[in-house]
Amino acid sequence: MADKWVYLFEEGHGGMRDLLGGKGANLAEMTKAALPVPPGFTVTTEACNRYYQEGRTLFDALKAQIEEALGKLEEKTGKRFGDPNHPLLVSVRSGAPVSMPGMMDTILNLGLNDATVEGLARLTNDARFAYDCYRRFIQMFGDVVLGVPHYLFEQVIDDVKAQRGVRHDPELGADDWRAVIARYKAIVQRHTGQPFPQDVKAQLFAAVRAVFDSWNNQRAIVYRKLHNIPDHLGTAVNVQMMVFGNMGNDSGTGVAFTRDPNTGEKRLYGEYLTNAQGEDVVAGIRTPQPIETLREAMPAVYEQFVAICERLERHYKDMQDIEFTVERGTLYILQTRSGKRTAQAAVKIAVDLVKEGILTREEALLRVDPDQLHQLLHRRIDPSAPRDVLAKGLPASPGAATGRVVFDADEAEAWAKRGERVILVRPETTPEDIHGIVAAQGVLTSRGGMTSHAAVVARGMGKPCVCGCEALKIDLRARMFAVGERVVREGEVITIDGATGEVLAGEVPLVDPVLSPEFHELLAWADAVRRLAVRANADTPDDAAKARAFGAEGIGLCRTEHMFMAPDRVPVVQEMILAETREEREAALQKLLPMQQGDFYGILKAMEGLPVTIRLLDPPLHEFLPNLEELLVEVTKLRGDPQADPERLAEKEALLAKVRKLHEFNPMLGHRGCRLGLVFPEIYEMQVEAIFRAAAQLVREGVDVRPEVMIPLVGHVNELARLRKLVDEVAQRVMAETGTSVAYTVGTMIEVPRAALTADEIAREADFFSFGTNDLTQMTFAFSRDDAEGKFLPHYLESGILPDNPFITLDERGVGKLIAMGVAEGRKTRPNLKAGICGEHGGEKRSIDFCHRVGLDYVSCSPYRVPLARLAAAQAQL
Ligand code: PEP
Ligand code: MG
Repeated sequence: MADKWVYLFEEGHGGMRDLLGGKGANLAEMTKAALPVPPGFTVTTEACNRYYQEGRTLFDALKAQIEEALGKLEEKTGKRFGDPNHPLLVSVRSGAPVSMPGMMDTILNLGLNDATVEGLARLTNDARFAYDCYRRFIQMFGDVVLGVPHYLFEQVIDDVKAQRGVRHDPELGADDWRAVIARYKAIVQRHTGQPFPQDVKAQLFAAVRAVFDSWNNQRAIVYRKLHNIPDHLGTAVNVQMMVFGNMGNDSGTGVAFTRDPNTGEKRLYGEYLTNAQGEDVVAGIRTPQPIETLREAMPAVYEQFVAICERLERHYKDMQDIEFTVERGTLYILQTRSGKRTAQAAVKIAVDLVKEGILTREEALLRVDPDQLHQLLHRRIDPSAPRDVLAKGLPASPGAATGRVVFDADEAEAWAKRGERVILVRPETTPEDIHGIVAAQGVLTSRGGMTSHAAVVARGMGKPCVCGCEALKIDLRARMFAVGERVVREGEVITIDGATGEVLAGEVPLVDPVLSPEFHELLAWADAVRRLAVRANADTPDDAAKARAFGAEGIGLCRTEHMFMAPDRVPVVQEMILAETREEREAALQKLLPMQQGDFYGILKAMEGLPVTIRLLDPPLHEFLPNLEELLVEVTKLRGDPQADPERLAEKEALLAKVRKLHEFNPMLGHRGCRLGLVFPEIYEMQVEAIFRAAAQLVREGVDVRPEVMIPLVGHVNELARLRKLVDEVAQRVMAETGTSVAYTVGTMIEVPRAALTADEIAREADFFSFGTNDLTQMTFAFSRDDAEGKFLPHYLESGILPDNPFITLDERGVGKLIAMGVAEGRKTRPNLKAGICGEHGGEKRSIDFCHRVGLDYVSCSPYRVPLARLAAAQAQL
């Protein structure tokens, strides 16, 4: 109903996420399932959007519906909003359709004023508790709604504690809190020019507005940008009866995951604080106790909670992150949502849920984000390396990170921009620090538990995090921290180990990860589902072996120039380039031949039984020569030096002349790729000879080899026709000479727009196409792939001219159209034409989905991305 802006929890259900937000939909769903949820209502996301359309005003229909819902809440609870005899207090929380942890604001204890606080004190027989609630409310409302800086309030408490000579908040009594309240109200008056609002309805409307406004605060905008969440979704507002975890030792509050969010192990994992309100846990202000504390303190409540956890998991078919409160022995569930988890946990939970009969294999495959798999391949601290452990905190997010210590988020960002690797060290983090966490390699905090902001955010981003490291004495002003006698200053290097919680001095060597059985199991399911094959881009036998171990089904691109770039080969390559005659060049090539042959032997052997696409030389030759400017400086120096060896000078001058001759204004559009092979056929002849000699040798050894020779940068069918002939001739000659027969194919990169446009002609000469989307993107956009990202592309992305970096995520509309045309036209000529992609996009999940849709046969990506690609290819199929 378009004009219904407010839903009681019992009027909604779990499918109404878009309208009620994630939290609201869950509260409705839990209410339906008769779980012990405090009653309340949800103001819809549509109301939020309408609020903005109306120039940030709460329109009359909305206000009327809020009041009506409030009336129903009063009936249900038997309490009344603003009634000193029986006051109804509510929490007001944001809840967007997509979970945005810590991004939006929450207000608790709303409905308290000078009169109702007395009622609360009488009813609970606990004046201390009532005043504590009221001061918390003024503080939160002051901060979130009225914009009074948080620290002004904190100072008051510190003052009062100092006066009373106590260290902890719970040591303050009713009169102390009353004094705090008086000072808080004075702060509000001074800061806003108005007294603290006593009208409870005005409080509620202002809080709803503040939640709506927080949708567009800086940190929410950053978070949305980071996670590709559209701005137009809007947030819902949940208004819910307050329950109190701070009513004595039979009360408390906690957060629990139904499985371990780090390892995925099936066990309750959480934290509990006796006699406390929710904010104390989430904000990491008091370091909480493990959930087992609850089992000891209130076994019956614990058992009830465990049963509810089981039910919620089965209901939502996923691991849940549950907030709960115990009020005088009665359990209330405040919130449940799918819990954030590490990659390792995501994989284990998905696989375990299949084994427990809760998910199908297909559902499980869709549960793991391919990007997360990537984290599992991250390196860990070498267990055998010496460890200079400074301190130990909580292992909040696994992986190891090394970097220079910085103490605030802005610094972290600034240092990272300069190319420094940094570790962000904070007493605790808040949503305001998010840009610093993005910029840092890892996060270290001295306060807060496994569910503190730092832990949750770092885990979500796949960054290592150690939190609650209480031995750290951080001095933000002096930009240093001390652990016992030792001092670490800003800029010094530390290493954090998110798997053990250790903080180590200096840089520590890292090792490759060990993959779990669940990881292999999930990927085996992916392999059974996907149609797209996954190959790897690899240039060395080591990389090839690694790719194979990760599940690659062939090499999609072996860039032979990388073999030319080894330090011991560059002089021979230079000799070849600098040769004045064909004979001289051939002599140098003869020296390169055995080296290349050895390389191909290694790779073809490592990929026994699988196809290996070997691309002939591609880059402009000057890439192998010294830098023109540096050479010029050197020659100038030699010329001005009377002692200089004349022979050396002559040598350098000749080199300079040659480098100048090879210099091009647009080398990426210049003499490279097949153009080299056509002008200097002896280079390609040598490479092809090396391939087939290596293949022949392996065939004789009984190894199954499947070379695919690939010609780069073709734009016209004639280029390919001539080079194909060259390949066939050399191949036939070597086979005849060695008396072997090698099954091979010849194909081409499609990376020049003209090649895509004339793919029907080109397919006459090609057994396969491999889309080189790096060059194809460069040439389609006319964006230099070497310069754009450092120059104008960031501006394009920040200002929304382009939605994504086209060198990372394939541009479907433009470049994708060329690919679609290339495949279709090519297959018109040659129906069984094999087609794949070997640009960077072959390892990016959205681009892989496109490759699937456009009918490619395979994607090829770097070895470490192979597992990601296997899963993404399966997801594309589902
Ligand atoms: C390409 O252009 O996409 C490609 C794979 O080749 P290279 O990156 O080596 O130019
Ligand atoms: Mg290319």
